[in-house]
Amino acid sequence: MEYRATIGIEVHAELNTASKMFCGCSAEFFGRPPNTNVCPVCMGYPGALPVINRRAIEYAVKVGLALNCEIAAFSRFDRKNYTYPDLPKGYQISQYGLPLCVNGWVDIDVEGRRKRIRINRAHMEEDTAKTFHAGQASLIDYNRSGVPLLEIVTEPDIHSAEEARQYLIKLRTILRYLGVSTADMEKGAMRCEANVSVSPADSDRLGVKTEVKNLNSFRSVKQAIEYEIARQIAILEAGGRVEQVTMGWNEHQGRTVLQRSKEFAEDYRYFPEPDLPPLELSREYIETIRAGLPELPDAKAARLVSSYGIKPQDAAVLVGDGQVAGYFEAAVRAAQARQVDAQMVSNWIVGELFRLLNERGIEIAASPVSPEGLADLLAEVQKGTINANTGKDVLAEMFDGRSAAAIIQARGLAQINDAETLSRLAKQVIAENADAVEQYMGGKESALSFLIGQVMRASRGKANPQLVRELMLRQLGNKPDSGVDRS
Ligand code: ZN
Ligand code: MN
Repeated sequence: MEYRATIGIEVHAELNTASKMFCGCSAEFFGRPPNTNVCPVCMGYPGALPVINRRAIEYAVKVGLALNCEIAAFSRFDRKNYTYPDLPKGYQISQYGLPLCVNGWVDIDVEGRRKRIRINRAHMEEDTAKTFHAGQASLIDYNRSGVPLLEIVTEPDIHSAEEARQYLIKLRTILRYLGVSTADMEKGAMRCEANVSVSPADSDRLGVKTEVKNLNSFRSVKQAIEYEIARQIAILEAGGRVEQVTMGWNEHQGRTVLQRSKEFAEDYRYFPEPDLPPLELSREYIETIRAGLPELPDAKAARLVSSYGIKPQDAAVLVGDGQVAGYFEAAVRAAQARQVDAQMVSNWIVGELFRLLNERGIEIAASPVSPEGLADLLAEVQKGTINANTGKDVLAEMFDGRSAAAIIQARGLAQINDAETLSRLAKQVIAENADAVEQYMGGKESALSFLIGQVMRASRGKANPQLVRELMLRQLGNKPDSGVDRS
């Protein structure tokens, strides 16, 4: 039987405000000594009163607007009651009945097709403390307790593990463009849970869903969802029933494992938080935030295509990271003054520059080659001072901090465009490679590439390859070319 998977994603994103959601403690806890960013409010002492962090609300509104949500003029905080050692008050302050952001959407691209994922809601809440297990003991660090958390929930519009992964990548990019979260999954600043069900492909009823937790990398999201879909299909194929349970992803075993069955499903006994007033936002406030939003990835990609004429696939790669897009635009500005076109700049960034940065583990913001430096190099390639292959070597050497011109000069790399010199080399190669010449005359086209290659070698890569090809053809007696450009 054919099955269809249906997936909804919940993301918890930590907002990178200076202070916590309801107190003045620093929200920056990573790497801090345990239990040093704490006070009576975030430790849950009786009688301590919470105060709403304005900046956190501003950040949440930014995210809501970027996700095309309606922003509620009136929302409210509730108490979500459950008992766990990392929750000092015995409840989490969260928005339940009246969330801040509702009914949004985000577009993703999967296998060349654009797809819209609806956002059900995005609401404000506070993070829990962190538990560490040490032998028989459990240790709790309250530094994270009360850090602002935004929960973003999709509609069940996702139908494959790859779509889920693309959605999360897009969401991370948006959060980073807005500057409201590091959205770093490995550090827990963006945490993901997936609700997964499968049903017969021809049925419009959804199957029983399971919830998969502990997904802390894009890779585990993809693997866990694929695993869970296959697990559920196997149960249905065997005539069984999927149970509504919470699963955890075990990265080492590469499988989902049961965490909680339905019998233990929580009843959170939500009720309005009596210590906080409802959150009322004026239209003016919301519109001011909207007006201050940065250009978002989709809009930026469309603009890069329309203003610079680069390929849409390249634009999609460049805008995946705001720093990369910024580098590209700076390089294009410098390049245009040097008659280098934007597509060439894009090719070199997405290709050679990315490869060299990855190899060395350097972020583009710290690239030793500046956008202007790259434009200088490309201008030398464009003018024909050096060929593209030599250009790649020069780019690698530019990581030491020298300019393209200095390297070309010092190493005597300038391309040989002198027809007389190249003719002499071609003549020599023809004389030394009678076999290849004979093969070429006999109709073997690849022999020509070999001969051109020999000239390139004799010139230590400096010959202008187009010119060598022309001269070689001329010297081989103008044998008509097959018309296929094999250079
Ligand atoms: Zn505090
Ligand atoms: Mn939550």
